[in-house]
Amino acid sequence: MTISRAPTPDISPLTLKDTSGEAEAEGGPETFVRTDLYEERQTPESGIGAFATSLISSGTRIFCEESIVMLPDYAGQLELHRMVKALPDDKQKMFWNLAASSKPGKAVAWIDLLRASCGDDESDTFNNLVEEYERAWSIYETNRFTCRSLDGASKSLGMFPMCARINHSCAPNVFHRYSPSINRLTIHALRDIQPGEELLTSYIDICHPTVIRRQLLKHWGFRCRCTACDSSDDEEDHRRRRIEDLFNKMANREKKRERNEAKWTEKDYERSFANVSKAIKLLEEEGMEETDTLGVVYAAAVKLGLKLRREEEAVEWAQKVVEIEVKCLGTDSKEYQTALQLLETAKSARQK
Ligand SMILES: [Zn+2]
Repeated sequence: MTISRAPTPDISPLTLKDTSGEAEAEGGPETFVRTDLYEERQTPESGIGAFATSLISSGTRIFCEESIVMLPDYAGQLELHRMVKALPDDKQKMFWNLAASSKPGKAVAWIDLLRASCGDDESDTFNNLVEEYERAWSIYETNRFTCRSLDGASKSLGMFPMCARINHSCAPNVFHRYSPSINRLTIHALRDIQPGEELLTSYIDICHPTVIRRQLLKHWGFRCRCTACDSSDDEEDHRRRRIEDLFNKMANREKKRERNEAKWTEKDYERSFANVSKAIKLLEEEGMEETDTLGVVYAAAVKLGLKLRREEEAVEWAQKVVEIEVKCLGTDSKEYQTALQLLETAKSARQK
């Protein structure tokens, strides 16, 4: 695994190409983003996509972006619409141009509240207004990203129009994550990406087997045609089932350990370690080297390795965690700082 150690830029310089005259959407003519690294363009089957325009090496921060809308996860249609209407014109246009694929929800209490605030009845104007609210909500549900606070205690949902244009794959080549330390969503290359290749991120947990992934992806109203979903190789699906199973086993053993740490013997740590080392092997075979997959598992290996007096290896695994966090999230992320602390812990245990 080669990691690009290029320093991460603040925000990619953007050149906005106004393609007036092309497909006219509700918010006005589409504006496609073009930077030194990638451009947005229309695809035959998956709406607008993002494509590399030059070689992007693994670990490069392709862009980072501030949210145009950020709401607490309990917010509803009325709050969303109020926020969208308060945006400057260009941001409103960005919002209304985003894809809307989720269906209106069954809960309609907000319509009564809207009617009460408008003092209106079932006139055409009111019905049009309801439709507008419904469309805004559908855009929001289709394109929102989870944003956790720095301490992880609270969760908001943010909209990032550039990231929203990146299509899904269960074998992604880029990684997206909201970084609370810089209040931006970052996109990094998970491997070298050739010019012309589409940038693809995963909207879901990629450890699930195909049947579960299909179910989850229905939310966005498409059937995934990625290499993992279309693969005739049953072995690959089998590997993902085993990975998911190992993650569950690791979590269960960790809960047990927390409850009973005083009585936890070397044999117990060995057993936990066996799951971790199986997971590392499978994830590497599957090319899953993200912070949430291989990063989590290597971090677990470090902690267990220190219990098992395998300090030399623990230092190597901690270095892997640092590399993975740099590649997926950059050196300005909280995860990178945590990985550095883990590495320091392993190094000082080695010296003892
Ligand atoms: Zn897929």
